Amino acid sequence: MAAITAKETRRGERRANSQYESERLNCTTIEQALGDALAAHGTTGLAIRADGDIHRFDSADKPGGNRNGWYVCPSLEVAVFGFWHTGEQHTVTTGGKSDPAAAAEARLAYQRAREQREAERRAQQAKTAEQARRWWATAGAADPSHPYLVTKRLAPYGLRQRDTMLLVPLFYDGELVNLERIYPDGAKKALFGGRAKGVAGLIGHLANAERVLIAEGWATAAALHEAMGVPVVVARNADNLEPVSRRLRQRLPDNVAITLAADDDRFTEGNPGITKARLAALTIGAKVLMPTFCADCSRCTDFADVALCRKERGL
Ligand SMILES: [Zn+2]
Repeated sequence: MAAITAKETRRGERRANSQYESERLNCTTIEQALGDALAAHGTTGLAIRADGDIHRFDSADKPGGNRNGWYVCPSLEVAVFGFWHTGEQHTVTTGGKSDPAAAAEARLAYQRAREQREAERRAQQAKTAEQARRWWATAGAADPSHPYLVTKRLAPYGLRQRDTMLLVPLFYDGELVNLERIYPDGAKKALFGGRAKGVAGLIGHLANAERVLIAEGWATAAALHEAMGVPVVVARNADNLEPVSRRLRQRLPDNVAITLAADDDRFTEGNPGITKARLAALTIGAKVLMPTFCADCSRCTDFADVALCRKERGL
């Protein structure tokens, strides 16, 4: 008992000294300094614990429960915090430590936080992949009269359905890892926490194909497959075109041509559809295919729109 008391007393003294030092320098403890810095980033009311562990909190710019924010105080003089969704990272010091020592502590703390975050992410992805396989196995074939398919005038092409959701299977390294849910109103959402980057769907079969297309959305891919009879990969969004293109190029024999079928986001600033498709095509040396619009059409932006537009006009 005596030893413990002595130890606690020593710790208490050290703590008091360090606080005294801080007060003398700039009137703050690391908890106060970190609290002020977090407040400047919109986060208030956290009970900050300078215990060397990594703590997570909700960032102010996203819905509650996002846990995008993190902080760690590797010592009583240094704190590091950041936000995973923006990648930003900040170091706070009380001035009690030299800059190089504080920077080294901050670097190590960030490294630890990132490793913990990666482990959490991988665990969640494995959990979601399991859910995707379970849903896929228990879902029935998609109803051709599903409102989304009727609106788009497309066949289900191997989609499955769970309640009112169409399910697009998404693969990574040949494994089903996620599902895109398409709701009757056309809203699309992958399963929570699943792998997203480099993940893709497929309409048709890659085996023995001489040419493969890569498109953004499922409907665009389906319209292209219907019109051209070639397998079409579904990358889901413009940002995913490049990682999907790279992976597909690595996987397919050299003599199989890959073409990026771009969305023409002509009403969106910077035209992300064409910009990202060109970028992806450049990285793998592929061609880009762009939709041709009717002269008097001010609505269509992708191959699915054009196909539908032509069907509606009876062309
Ligand atoms: Zn049109």
